[in-house]
Amino acid sequence: MSQSESQDPSNKSKKPVKLQSVKGMNDVLPVEGIHWENLETLLREWLTAYGYRLIKTPVVEPTALFRRGIGEVTDIVEKEMFSFIDRLNGDELTLRPEFTAGIARATIQHNLTYAAPQRVYAMGPVFRHERPQRGRYRQFHQLDVEALGFEGPDIDAELIVMLSRLWRDMGLEGVRLEINCLGEASERLAHREALIAYFEQHQEMLDEDAQRRLHSNPLRILDTKNPAMQAMVNAAPKLFQYLGEASLAHYSGVKRLLDDAGVPYIENPRLVRGLDYYNLTVFEWITDALGSQGTICGGGRYDGLVEILGGKPTPAIGFAIGLERLLELYLESAQPDDAADLDVYVVHQGDGTARRAFTLAEELRDAGFAVVLHAGGGGFKSQMKRADVSGASVAVILGENELNKGTAAVKLLRGEGEQMEFSQDTLAESIFGLLYGEGEAQ
Ligand code: ATP
Ligand code: MG
Repeated sequence: MSQSESQDPSNKSKKPVKLQSVKGMNDVLPVEGIHWENLETLLREWLTAYGYRLIKTPVVEPTALFRRGIGEVTDIVEKEMFSFIDRLNGDELTLRPEFTAGIARATIQHNLTYAAPQRVYAMGPVFRHERPQRGRYRQFHQLDVEALGFEGPDIDAELIVMLSRLWRDMGLEGVRLEINCLGEASERLAHREALIAYFEQHQEMLDEDAQRRLHSNPLRILDTKNPAMQAMVNAAPKLFQYLGEASLAHYSGVKRLLDDAGVPYIENPRLVRGLDYYNLTVFEWITDALGSQGTICGGGRYDGLVEILGGKPTPAIGFAIGLERLLELYLESAQPDDAADLDVYVVHQGDGTARRAFTLAEELRDAGFAVVLHAGGGGFKSQMKRADVSGASVAVILGENELNKGTAAVKLLRGEGEQMEFSQDTLAESIFGLLYGEGEAQ
């Protein structure tokens, strides 16, 4: 509440304005948090198995980075960026709408590929001002993977094969792979001229979007979802007809390695991806299980980007996974474990038990257990209810009786089981024995 509001006596009866999260930006609540943690753990293990290392770049970058890196006439730069002026110093800044440009900037700034090429990944929130709907948010999360300094085609295939392993590890079915080869800039230019000429011949069929893109980004017209334009777009000149020998060889190289690995793919000559910087290999992984926002991963080669941003020529390729979409798919198809990773819930009641329970919980944590100590009072029954829903494997119960004897009662929380009593001095060993069938139970 501002000062003037709080001083206005007529305002007293009014309730303060309800504060809500920004439209399209979601909270992840604790019940979902456990799934996020599990997914992130699984992803990190998978990335480590392929030698990828974590890189973290700022959430905010100079706006110029994305204008130059992503391209002026892309959806992202034209209408999706959260850009603002830092009112303290006038800097033009943007919340990152993707990771690749920032990672390319960091690569140049720190001369990362000087001694050897780099395999890196980043994970975190990205921001795009889009119309919020299922699978499309204004703050969402990506896992971004980049291989910098490699010419391919082996690394192109490695990234794709790696993704196919991930879906397998996660138990996902029905994720299909589409690939295409975008060739090099000169080849695309020849194709682009042919496209413009073709679309000019069909002016009367172009919708407003297409009219606008005719001279700025005619390739994007191929991506149209307008049914009235499908037939005309299908008959447009194909980039494939303009690819030279080197591009074709690169493409066959990728496909051969995918065949060797037994990874099926669909060649989609209309797959162009939304950003300017791609060349040669591009790919997407798509599912029908998520409604209309079915692309869970998109990627491609961007050999020119580092140079465009002022660095040395550095061939590179990468992809990004939309984690909200991946998580939704994972929860639908794989039903992963959602139990909290908790071993012990400590219940205590009676004079003096709170103090000892506090140190006992610390002792159990010293021994390596994950422990929640009951806080906030309440009777024995209500404490035991909390223990039951906590997800812990055992409850440790400390009453005045036990306190006086130097013991603690222990009860298994899953399945049937008598309450047992153990000495406090060897409590950790006893619980370990109870849970894992080893060690000495008293
Ligand atoms: P789309 O065509 O769906 O807009 P895109 O080409 O803009 O996708 P990329 O820039 O390739 O998407 O981002 C990689 C992945 O991030 C997408 O495949 C998707 O899974 C996810 N993604 C993109 N935009 C959003 C969004 N607004 N909300 C949630 N996830 C998104
Ligand atoms: Mg988009």
